[in-house]
Amino acid sequence: MTAPTFTGEVMLRCGACRLLKAETEFARHSDRITGSQHACKACAEQARRQDRARNPGKYRERERRRWRENKVREQARFAKWYAKNREADAEKSREWGRRNKPMVQARHVRRYAKNGALLRARSAAWRTANRGRARAKSREWQRLNPERARFNVRVRNGVQRRAQPAWADTFAMREAYDLAALRTQATGIQWQVDHAVPLINKKVCGLHCEFNLRVITASENQRKQNLRWPDMP
Ligand SMILES: [Zn+2]
Repeated sequence: MTAPTFTGEVMLRCGACRLLKAETEFARHSDRITGSQHACKACAEQARRQDRARNPGKYRERERRRWRENKVREQARFAKWYAKNREADAEKSREWGRRNKPMVQARHVRRYAKNGALLRARSAAWRTANRGRARAKSREWQRLNPERARFNVRVRNGVQRRAQPAWADTFAMREAYDLAALRTQATGIQWQVDHAVPLINKKVCGLHCEFNLRVITASENQRKQNLRWPDMP
């Protein structure tokens, strides 16, 4: 005859939410007489979250220290987490990018000013190695940015390049094309970027620069053609 063994679940009362919960719902704590934490895992997690919101610096410092002192283990932990959460993480970072667009753009401009040649060479190399993907990506970009795509075509066909002074602020100019796209989307009618003084005309030759750009409706642009400019004689 064997002694009867206890097969039921040990229940403990949570010191925070006061609910009776199975022992497995509590983290281990060897110093306590029950061998478990006084609050259940859910309550402990909630308390941690609140404390973290109150003292972000404390937690950041603690995480940095843990990372420094256990680099290999932490990297493995991160790799495992990342493999499971890759898509969610990518969406989170896209969402962050959308919310911080001006900052991201400013950072982009700074990086390009510093390493433009290197970055262009790197992306040209990638395009050569991934021709199909590059083409698909470019088509998708054109679909999403019709105004900017038209701008690029015009730049390529040379007229604007000849009319663009060295000091032109291309970032400010791209902003004009973005504005035209935004207005088109918001109003449902077509907006275009126009050169106030036309680039090609028998009497004048306007510059392709930020001071000569304005965002007007397509129908106004068509009425104007290349025949009029602000202080026309
Ligand atoms: Zn609880």
